[in-house]
Amino acid sequence: MTDAAKPPLDLLIAAPRGFCAGVDRAIQIVELAIERYGAPVYVRHEIVHNKFVVDSLKAKGAVFVETLDDVPDGVPVVFSAHGVPKAVPAKAASRGLSYLDATCPLVSKVHRQAERLVAAGRHILFVGHAGHPEVIGTFGQVPQGHMTLIETEADAESFVAADPDNLAFLTQTTLSVDDTAAIMAVLQRRFPSIVAPKADDICYATSNRQAAVKAIAAQVQLVLVIGAPNSSNSLRLVEVAEREGTPGKLVQRADDLDWAWLDGVGAVGITAGASAPEVLVRELVDKLATRFTVTEREVETTRESIAFKLPRELWAA
Ligand code: SF4
Repeated sequence: MTDAAKPPLDLLIAAPRGFCAGVDRAIQIVELAIERYGAPVYVRHEIVHNKFVVDSLKAKGAVFVETLDDVPDGVPVVFSAHGVPKAVPAKAASRGLSYLDATCPLVSKVHRQAERLVAAGRHILFVGHAGHPEVIGTFGQVPQGHMTLIETEADAESFVAADPDNLAFLTQTTLSVDDTAAIMAVLQRRFPSIVAPKADDICYATSNRQAAVKAIAAQVQLVLVIGAPNSSNSLRLVEVAEREGTPGKLVQRADDLDWAWLDGVGAVGITAGASAPEVLVRELVDKLATRFTVTEREVETTRESIAFKLPRELWAA
Protein backbone atom coordinates (compact mmCIF):
# COMPACT_ATOMS: atom_id res chain seq x y z
CA MET A 1 0.00 0.00 0.00
CA THR A 2 1.44 3.43 -0.87
CA ASP A 3 1.73 5.89 2.02
CA ALA A 4 -0.84 8.18 0.39
CA ALA A 5 -3.41 5.36 0.34
CA LYS A 6 -3.00 4.47 4.00
CA PRO A 7 -5.68 5.74 6.39
CA PRO A 8 -4.48 7.75 9.41
CA LEU A 9 -4.22 6.08 12.83
CA ASP A 10 -3.35 7.84 16.08
CA LEU A 11 -1.36 5.76 18.54
CA LEU A 12 -1.45 6.75 22.20
CA ILE A 13 1.33 4.88 23.91
CA ALA A 14 0.99 4.51 27.67
CA ALA A 15 3.93 5.28 29.94
CA PRO A 16 4.98 3.62 32.11
CA ARG A 17 4.61 0.29 30.30
CA GLY A 18 6.60 -2.90 29.89
CA PHE A 19 9.48 -4.10 32.02
CA CYS A 20 9.42 -3.37 35.74
CA ALA A 21 12.42 -3.44 38.04
CA GLY A 22 11.63 -6.98 39.26
CA VAL A 23 11.51 -8.41 35.74
CA ASP A 24 14.64 -6.56 34.71
CA ARG A 25 16.47 -7.96 37.72
CA ALA A 26 15.24 -11.53 37.12
CA ILE A 27 16.40 -11.50 33.50
CA GLN A 28 19.78 -10.07 34.51
CA ILE A 29 20.16 -12.82 37.10
CA VAL A 30 19.75 -15.52 34.45
CA GLU A 31 22.08 -13.76 32.01
CA LEU A 32 24.76 -13.17 34.63
CA ALA A 33 24.43 -16.73 35.92
CA ILE A 34 25.11 -18.04 32.40
CA GLU A 35 28.09 -15.67 32.13
CA ARG A 36 29.43 -16.68 35.51
CA TYR A 37 28.77 -20.43 35.60
CA GLY A 38 28.51 -21.21 31.88
CA ALA A 39 25.55 -22.85 30.10
CA PRO A 40 23.36 -24.59 30.87
CA VAL A 41 21.76 -22.72 33.75
CA TYR A 42 18.44 -24.22 34.80
CA VAL A 43 15.48 -22.00 35.59
CA ARG A 44 12.53 -23.31 37.59
CA HIS A 45 9.36 -22.04 35.88
CA GLU A 46 9.33 -19.28 33.21
CA ILE A 47 11.63 -16.63 34.71
CA VAL A 48 8.93 -14.08 33.79
CA HIS A 49 5.71 -14.74 31.90
CA ASN A 50 6.84 -13.80 28.41
CA LYS A 51 7.64 -16.23 25.60
CA PHE A 52 9.94 -13.81 23.78
CA VAL A 53 12.04 -13.34 26.94
CA VAL A 54 12.08 -17.07 27.68
CA ASP A 55 13.09 -17.95 24.10
CA SER A 56 15.87 -15.30 24.13
CA LEU A 57 17.27 -16.78 27.35
CA LYS A 58 16.98 -20.32 25.97
CA ALA A 59 19.12 -19.21 23.04
CA LYS A 60 21.77 -18.03 25.51
CA GLY A 61 21.85 -21.33 27.41
CA ALA A 62 19.00 -21.28 29.92
CA VAL A 63 16.94 -24.45 30.34
CA PHE A 64 13.42 -24.00 31.72
CA VAL A 65 11.85 -26.72 33.85
CA GLU A 66 8.80 -26.85 36.09
CA THR A 67 10.20 -28.82 39.03
CA LEU A 68 13.55 -29.29 40.73
CA ASP A 69 13.29 -33.01 39.88
CA ASP A 70 14.10 -32.01 36.30
CA VAL A 71 17.33 -30.22 37.33
CA PRO A 72 20.36 -32.51 37.08
CA ASP A 73 22.89 -32.60 39.93
CA GLY A 74 25.76 -30.14 39.78
CA VAL A 75 24.17 -27.37 37.72
CA PRO A 76 22.97 -24.00 39.06
CA VAL A 77 19.25 -23.28 39.18
CA VAL A 78 17.43 -19.94 39.26
CA PHE A 79 14.01 -19.45 40.88
CA SER A 80 11.60 -17.23 38.95
CA ALA A 81 10.52 -13.67 39.77
CA HIS A 82 7.17 -14.93 41.08
CA GLY A 83 8.73 -16.54 44.14
CA VAL A 84 8.73 -20.12 45.38
CA PRO A 85 7.42 -21.99 48.43
CA LYS A 86 10.06 -22.42 51.15
CA ALA A 87 10.19 -26.13 50.40
CA VAL A 88 11.87 -25.41 47.03
CA PRO A 89 15.14 -23.80 48.23
CA ALA A 90 15.17 -26.33 51.08
CA LYS A 91 15.00 -29.18 48.57
CA ALA A 92 17.68 -27.58 46.39
CA ALA A 93 19.95 -27.25 49.43
CA SER A 94 19.33 -30.85 50.44
CA ARG A 95 20.48 -31.95 46.98
CA GLY A 96 23.53 -29.70 47.16
CA LEU A 97 22.35 -27.61 44.18
CA SER A 98 23.58 -24.03 44.02
CA TYR A 99 20.63 -21.75 43.43
CA LEU A 100 19.94 -18.10 42.76
CA ASP A 101 16.67 -16.61 43.85
CA ALA A 102 15.22 -14.16 41.30
CA THR A 103 12.07 -13.60 43.38
CA CYS A 104 11.11 -9.94 43.02
CA PRO A 105 12.01 -8.12 46.26
CA LEU A 106 8.43 -6.82 46.41
CA VAL A 107 7.13 -10.40 46.43
CA SER A 108 9.73 -11.35 49.08
CA LYS A 109 8.44 -8.47 51.17
CA VAL A 110 4.96 -10.06 51.16
CA HIS A 111 6.54 -13.41 52.09
CA ARG A 112 8.19 -11.87 55.16
CA GLN A 113 4.93 -10.13 56.15
CA ALA A 114 3.14 -13.49 55.94
CA GLU A 115 5.70 -15.13 58.22
CA ARG A 116 5.47 -12.31 60.75
CA LEU A 117 1.67 -12.34 60.83
CA VAL A 118 1.50 -16.10 61.35
CA ALA A 119 4.16 -15.87 64.06
CA ALA A 120 1.91 -13.28 65.74
CA GLY A 121 -0.95 -15.79 65.70
CA ARG A 122 -2.99 -14.25 62.88
CA HIS A 123 -4.87 -16.16 60.20
CA ILE A 124 -4.14 -14.59 56.78
CA LEU A 125 -6.70 -13.94 54.08
CA PHE A 126 -4.66 -13.78 50.90
CA VAL A 127 -6.29 -11.88 48.05
CA GLY A 128 -5.08 -13.39 44.79
CA HIS A 129 -5.72 -15.76 41.89
CA ALA A 130 -5.76 -19.52 42.45
CA GLY A 131 -2.93 -21.36 40.75
CA HIS A 132 -0.75 -18.33 40.02
CA PRO A 133 2.88 -19.14 40.92
CA GLU A 134 3.11 -16.07 43.15
CA VAL A 135 0.13 -17.32 45.17
CA ILE A 136 1.63 -20.82 45.43
CA GLY A 137 4.93 -19.28 46.54
CA THR A 138 3.32 -17.08 49.19
CA PHE A 139 1.18 -19.91 50.58
CA GLY A 140 4.38 -21.91 50.82
CA GLN A 141 5.91 -19.43 53.28
CA VAL A 142 3.71 -20.50 56.17
CA PRO A 143 2.50 -23.84 57.54
CA GLN A 144 -0.65 -25.23 55.92
CA GLY A 145 -3.95 -24.00 57.30
CA HIS A 146 -2.76 -20.50 58.23
CA MET A 147 -3.80 -18.82 55.01
CA THR A 148 -7.07 -18.74 53.04
CA LEU A 149 -7.34 -17.60 49.42
CA ILE A 150 -9.86 -14.86 48.67
CA GLU A 151 -10.39 -14.34 44.94
CA THR A 152 -13.55 -12.28 44.81
CA GLU A 153 -15.84 -9.99 46.79
CA ALA A 154 -18.18 -13.00 47.12
CA ASP A 155 -15.35 -14.99 48.76
CA ALA A 156 -14.77 -12.09 51.15
CA GLU A 157 -18.47 -12.04 52.01
CA SER A 158 -18.76 -15.77 52.60
CA PHE A 159 -15.52 -16.44 54.51
CA VAL A 160 -16.26 -17.92 57.93
CA ALA A 161 -13.63 -17.01 60.49
CA ALA A 162 -12.80 -19.33 63.38
CA ASP A 163 -11.37 -16.34 65.27
CA PRO A 164 -12.66 -13.09 63.71
CA ASP A 165 -10.47 -10.92 65.94
CA ASN A 166 -7.26 -12.54 64.83
CA LEU A 167 -7.21 -11.97 61.10
CA ALA A 168 -4.89 -10.19 58.67
CA PHE A 169 -4.89 -9.86 54.91
CA LEU A 170 -2.24 -9.62 52.25
CA THR A 171 -2.52 -9.38 48.48
CA GLN A 172 -0.84 -10.66 45.34
CA THR A 173 1.34 -7.94 43.77
CA THR A 174 -0.25 -7.96 40.31
CA LEU A 175 -3.97 -7.54 41.00
CA SER A 176 -6.49 -5.01 39.76
CA VAL A 177 -6.22 -1.96 41.99
CA ASP A 178 -9.99 -1.38 41.81
CA ASP A 179 -11.08 -5.00 42.43
CA THR A 180 -8.69 -5.30 45.33
CA ALA A 181 -9.98 -2.10 46.93
CA ALA A 182 -13.51 -3.53 46.74
CA ILE A 183 -12.44 -6.83 48.34
CA MET A 184 -10.48 -5.00 51.05
CA ALA A 185 -13.57 -2.89 51.81
CA VAL A 186 -15.66 -6.04 52.34
CA LEU A 187 -13.05 -7.58 54.63
CA GLN A 188 -12.67 -4.41 56.67
CA ARG A 189 -16.43 -4.03 57.01
CA ARG A 190 -16.93 -7.64 58.11
CA PHE A 191 -13.84 -7.85 60.30
CA PRO A 192 -13.11 -4.37 61.70
CA SER A 193 -10.04 -5.56 63.62
CA ILE A 194 -8.40 -7.23 60.59
CA VAL A 195 -4.74 -6.27 60.28
CA ALA A 196 -4.16 -4.69 56.88
CA PRO A 197 -0.97 -3.85 55.02
CA LYS A 198 -0.43 -0.07 54.74
CA ALA A 199 -2.34 0.19 51.46
CA ASP A 200 -2.22 -3.18 49.72
CA ASP A 201 0.66 -5.18 48.34
CA ILE A 202 -0.07 -4.38 44.71
CA CYS A 203 3.32 -3.28 43.44
CA TYR A 204 4.23 0.13 42.05
CA ALA A 205 4.63 -1.28 38.52
CA THR A 206 1.18 -2.87 38.46
CA SER A 207 -0.51 0.27 39.82
CA ASN A 208 1.39 2.61 37.51
CA ARG A 209 0.63 0.56 34.38
CA GLN A 210 -3.08 0.41 35.28
CA ALA A 211 -3.20 4.18 35.88
CA ALA A 212 -1.45 4.83 32.56
CA VAL A 213 -3.98 2.70 30.66
CA LYS A 214 -6.85 4.44 32.41
CA ALA A 215 -5.46 7.77 31.23
CA ILE A 216 -5.54 6.80 27.55
CA ALA A 217 -8.48 4.38 27.33
CA ALA A 218 -11.20 7.03 27.03
CA GLN A 219 -9.35 8.74 24.16
CA VAL A 220 -9.09 5.68 21.89
CA GLN A 221 -11.42 3.09 20.37
CA LEU A 222 -9.17 0.08 21.02
CA VAL A 223 -6.43 -0.73 23.54
CA LEU A 224 -3.77 -3.27 22.59
CA VAL A 225 -1.93 -4.82 25.53
CA ILE A 226 1.27 -6.70 24.79
CA GLY A 227 1.55 -9.58 27.22
CA ALA A 228 1.16 -13.28 27.77
CA PRO A 229 -2.15 -14.99 28.57
CA ASN A 230 -0.61 -16.25 31.86
CA SER A 231 0.68 -12.79 32.83
CA SER A 232 -1.58 -11.55 35.61
CA ASN A 233 -0.61 -7.89 35.36
CA SER A 234 -1.16 -7.92 31.54
CA LEU A 235 -4.64 -9.42 31.89
CA ARG A 236 -5.48 -6.72 34.42
CA LEU A 237 -4.50 -4.03 31.88
CA VAL A 238 -7.03 -5.43 29.40
CA GLU A 239 -9.69 -5.34 32.14
CA VAL A 240 -8.86 -1.75 33.05
CA ALA A 241 -9.36 -0.66 29.42
CA GLU A 242 -12.65 -2.52 29.17
CA ARG A 243 -13.95 -1.01 32.39
CA GLU A 244 -13.30 2.40 30.89
CA GLY A 245 -15.61 1.30 28.06
CA THR A 246 -12.90 0.64 25.47
CA PRO A 247 -12.33 -2.82 23.98
CA GLY A 248 -8.99 -4.25 25.06
CA LYS A 249 -7.07 -7.02 23.29
CA LEU A 250 -4.12 -8.99 24.56
CA VAL A 251 -1.44 -9.76 21.96
CA GLN A 252 1.79 -11.64 22.56
CA ARG A 253 3.44 -10.47 19.34
CA ALA A 254 2.52 -8.20 16.44
CA ASP A 255 1.50 -11.29 14.46
CA ASP A 256 -1.46 -11.80 16.82
CA LEU A 257 -2.99 -8.57 15.54
CA ASP A 258 -6.34 -9.12 13.86
CA TRP A 259 -6.89 -6.36 11.29
CA ALA A 260 -10.66 -6.67 11.80
CA TRP A 261 -10.18 -5.10 15.25
CA LEU A 262 -9.10 -1.91 13.49
CA ASP A 263 -12.27 -1.52 11.41
CA GLY A 264 -13.60 1.99 11.96
CA VAL A 265 -10.89 2.74 14.53
CA GLY A 266 -9.06 6.08 14.36
CA ALA A 267 -7.09 5.95 17.59
CA VAL A 268 -5.45 2.99 19.34
CA GLY A 269 -3.94 2.84 22.81
CA ILE A 270 -0.88 0.65 23.30
CA THR A 271 0.67 -0.66 26.48
CA ALA A 272 2.72 -3.64 27.60
CA GLY A 273 2.62 -5.78 30.73
CA ALA A 274 5.51 -5.74 33.18
CA SER A 275 7.11 -8.80 31.59
CA ALA A 276 6.93 -7.59 27.96
CA PRO A 277 10.04 -5.97 26.45
CA GLU A 278 9.92 -2.67 24.58
CA VAL A 279 11.08 -4.34 21.36
CA LEU A 280 7.61 -5.94 21.13
CA VAL A 281 5.97 -2.51 21.36
CA ARG A 282 8.09 -1.31 18.44
CA GLU A 283 7.24 -4.48 16.50
CA LEU A 284 3.51 -3.79 16.98
CA VAL A 285 3.83 -0.12 15.96
CA ASP A 286 5.79 -1.17 12.85
CA LYS A 287 3.10 -3.69 11.94
CA LEU A 288 0.34 -1.07 12.30
CA ALA A 289 2.41 1.25 10.10
CA THR A 290 2.25 -1.25 7.24
CA ARG A 291 -1.46 -0.49 6.81
CA PHE A 292 -1.91 2.94 8.41
CA THR A 293 -0.18 6.29 8.47
CA VAL A 294 0.50 6.23 12.18
CA THR A 295 1.07 9.20 14.47
CA GLU A 296 2.60 8.25 17.81
CA ARG A 297 2.07 10.11 21.05
CA GLU A 298 3.38 8.90 24.39
CA VAL A 299 1.13 9.70 27.35
CA GLU A 300 3.20 9.60 30.53
CA THR A 301 1.32 9.51 33.83
CA THR A 302 4.35 8.98 36.05
CA ARG A 303 8.08 8.34 35.78
CA GLU A 304 9.66 5.27 37.38
CA SER A 305 13.20 5.15 38.72
CA ILE A 306 13.16 1.98 40.81
CA ALA A 307 15.96 -0.56 40.45
CA PHE A 308 16.67 -3.60 42.62
CA LYS A 309 20.05 -4.92 43.69
CA LEU A 310 21.29 -8.19 42.26
CA PRO A 311 22.00 -11.14 44.55
CA ARG A 312 25.43 -10.86 46.19
CA GLU A 313 26.73 -14.01 44.42
CA LEU A 314 26.48 -12.16 41.10
CA TRP A 315 28.02 -8.85 42.06
CA ALA A 316 31.44 -9.81 40.71
CA ALA A 317 29.90 -10.95 37.40
FE1 SF4 B 1 8.01 -7.12 41.10
FE2 SF4 B 1 5.75 -5.85 40.53
FE3 SF4 B 1 7.43 -6.46 38.61
FE4 SF4 B 1 6.05 -8.40 39.82
S1 SF4 B 1 5.21 -6.76 38.53
S2 SF4 B 1 8.22 -8.44 39.28
S3 SF4 B 1 6.00 -7.58 41.93
S4 SF4 B 1 7.84 -5.05 40.32
